[in-house]
Amino acid sequence: MIPPPRVLVSCVMPLGSIAGHPRLLSLLSRAMARQTLPPALLLSGPGGVGKRTTALALAETLNCPQPRTLGNWLEIDACGACASCRRIARGVHPDVIVLEPGETGAIRIDEVRDVIDRANYRPFEGRRRVVIVDEADTMAPAAQNALLKTLEEPPSASVFMLVSSMPDALLPTVRSRCPRLRFGALLAADVAGVLMRDHGYTEAEARAAAADADGSIGCALAVRNVDLVGARDAAQRLLEHAARVSNPVHRLELARNLTGKKSATAAERDQLAVCLRALASLLRDLGVLAVRADTSSLANADLQADLGPLSDAFDSERSTRAFTAVDRALGALERNVGPKVVADWLVLQL
Ligand SMILES: [Zn+2]
Repeated sequence: MIPPPRVLVSCVMPLGSIAGHPRLLSLLSRAMARQTLPPALLLSGPGGVGKRTTALALAETLNCPQPRTLGNWLEIDACGACASCRRIARGVHPDVIVLEPGETGAIRIDEVRDVIDRANYRPFEGRRRVVIVDEADTMAPAAQNALLKTLEEPPSASVFMLVSSMPDALLPTVRSRCPRLRFGALLAADVAGVLMRDHGYTEAEARAAAADADGSIGCALAVRNVDLVGARDAAQRLLEHAARVSNPVHRLELARNLTGKKSATAAERDQLAVCLRALASLLRDLGVLAVRADTSSLANADLQADLGPLSDAFDSERSTRAFTAVDRALGALERNVGPKVVADWLVLQL
């Protein structure tokens, strides 16, 4: 029998493919299905957790000619495959306007006025005109004031989405007109999943990067060129060594592994800072294991088999004490204390 021709169907579902935030996405999907999405929204939360991606996915769903009706945790979602969805994803849809700070680092008042003008026309081809103001907190107060009236009474077919990781920098009058969607940090597993799926990381790279990223995909990508796997390895070896050996001379030998073999002090400082963050992350996990808390919150879940035995030596009290020492070491690095001095001091505190 001749097999049927292979049809390439993109299975990208924009809301459904966003990592984390299931409750928030579910709420938004339901609001769109029932056409009760407020015309002005503020998406707030830490950087790099998917706020802007969510705003774009909402724009796709609002304009997709064949949205999928899912009826599961998402009621509807964009198809992700049609011309409209693809153009929104590529940033070339005439009805989806993204306003963001330019080279000056601020969104200018004339840009805001221009967007308000455009929002007053009916959409060219979509159902809704969507204006996404990314890093909305970079609008000066005058620019925010220019936007106020439009946020109060948005043109009938328009939706305004303000995106900000510093919402307190927005005028209270602006904040009060936009129902707020609070995004939290992602789980390390979600960050690692996105790094593997969308950015070509191997599992080991993704896990090490996620453990260092405080629940932010953006933070993980920002340190893409740093040897995170090596840093986490060094941190793990140091803890294993410290669990067995108390002789200070032997401990000090290990301090060298933390700063790496780079000659420049600046490079040593960066390498040590990454190592210290890896140490802090491992110690936090040891603290979780010591009190037998829910292991789904482990940042280094892939190392759980190694961390288990280590948690016998690093009980709750010792891991907390060590965590505090790592924190002080990071503070000393920031105050420009030499990296070798910091590393030597720290290995004796574990
Ligand atoms: Zn579509």
